[in-house]
Amino acid sequence: MTVTELVPYEDALASYDPVMGLEVHVELGTKTKMFCGCSTELGADANSQTCPTCLGLPGALPVVNAVGVESAIKIGLALNCRIAEWCRFARKNYFYPDMPKNFQTSQYDEPIAFDGYLDVQLEDGEVFRVEIERAHMEEDTGKSTHVGGATGRIHGASHSLLDYNRAGIPLIEIVTKPITGAGERAPEVAKAYVAELRELIKALGVSEARMEMGQMRCDVNLSLRPHGTETFGTRSETKNVNSLRSVERAVRYEISRHAGVLNAGGKVVQETRHFHEDDGSTTSGRIKEEAEDYRYFPEPDLVPVAPSREWVEELRATLPELPRVRRNRLREEWGVSEHDMQSILNAGAVDLIVATTEAGADSAAARKWWMGELARSANESGTELSALPITPAQVARVAALVAEGALNDKLARQVIEGVLAGEGDPDAVVEKRGLKVVSDDSALGAAVDEAIAANAAIADKIRAGKVAAAGALVGAVMKATRGQADAARVRELILEKLGVEG
Ligand code: ADP
Ligand code: MG
Ligand code: ZN
Repeated sequence: MTVTELVPYEDALASYDPVMGLEVHVELGTKTKMFCGCSTELGADANSQTCPTCLGLPGALPVVNAVGVESAIKIGLALNCRIAEWCRFARKNYFYPDMPKNFQTSQYDEPIAFDGYLDVQLEDGEVFRVEIERAHMEEDTGKSTHVGGATGRIHGASHSLLDYNRAGIPLIEIVTKPITGAGERAPEVAKAYVAELRELIKALGVSEARMEMGQMRCDVNLSLRPHGTETFGTRSETKNVNSLRSVERAVRYEISRHAGVLNAGGKVVQETRHFHEDDGSTTSGRIKEEAEDYRYFPEPDLVPVAPSREWVEELRATLPELPRVRRNRLREEWGVSEHDMQSILNAGAVDLIVATTEAGADSAAARKWWMGELARSANESGTELSALPITPAQVARVAALVAEGALNDKLARQVIEGVLAGEGDPDAVVEKRGLKVVSDDSALGAAVDEAIAANAAIADKIRAGKVAAAGALVGAVMKATRGQADAARVRELILEKLGVEG
């Protein structure tokens, strides 16, 4: 094997124009499998969720899952696709131990949805249109575990274990048309596309689309062509990339690698490649020079799918607001910059903030707590914001206590800390920890007198008219009351006692 010299990214882009194709598999969140009634619940004992159909036993007959078809149509519609009036499933024939039927039930030349597009927003706000070739229905394979080797790969293993619980879980594969014109932003476009698609799938409620759990995975096709030429170069296909960051890195790496091959006068091999998280590289997988012969033919055991136009229109009417549109709407409602909105998105805080405002907080307060104190806390414990043991309703209650003057920010932080520590609802924490702003004069008077006595020089300055110096005395009182005093009232009391006008 010859080692390719990687060309620095900018140099590669100076000579070549990248062309990408993204194939995304989404596991649908249906209760049962695509062609049988077996449960899709995760975490069950190996092979406990199987039946003659998904094990491919002779004579077993598949039945299409209507929710699977409905989900496929919703995805197609949300991607601005045309929905087939009539289409069939097809058998994709190949042998592999994780597929007991010896064929995968898929769709070939008759996908349920085709010819669409998805507009994705780049970090600077620019919108890039990615055209969709098709979205089709198929089923997942089982899962192999290779035992006995050092790496967990089949190479070096002594034996393999097979779990067919996943075999037959519905998948939708969404394939883009070749993406051209992204230039140096190709990695960003790829990442933004997969991110947008994931948000869309979640908004449709058809899957949780959790990439880290394999519910959504992306194959990254990439080729380069010299600037000014039309013909596409030979592509590589990096399989099963399973995070947004990895999609971006895989595109970047392949651009540098292809440029290296081409600059050295070599030919890019059409092959599948594996992506490595640790160093962001890809390595050769399976050569794909000739199209594999899967001997596709229409599935004889399933009736064609012919969704009525009435049904399609009914489903269209249920589509939620597109994530990109919703984000832009919220950004305007909240009056935040693109940059701040991006941070909110990256923190996974949009829905939490919305829920907090729905529970009565104003959006500025909701943002402040989720993006401040709570983001810090999530960061420290290495969890997601949504996994913190505090609800939007509890955050809204803290915000309400601040708004009515019962808590100041410092006390509110302690209340949040208490809720996170499992001490109960905000009101319970306030009660147990005795966290209330003290504003009645009898309670504050003594502390103010002490502060004046202990800082005679400052008190004199204030008497002489230097009102700004009152801040130091307010600080002393706040310290003495462990932050519980009503700062505004303390200031008034100080000025009163010293006989000056605020
Ligand atoms: P396969 O089944 O071999 O993966 P598909 O047609 O399903 O082929 O998917 C190929 C993907 O790669 C599509 O997204 C397609 O738009 C894209 N593509 C096709 N040719 C090229 C090319 N030369 N360079 C980059 N992407 C390509
Ligand atoms: Mg492919
Ligand atoms: Zn089954």
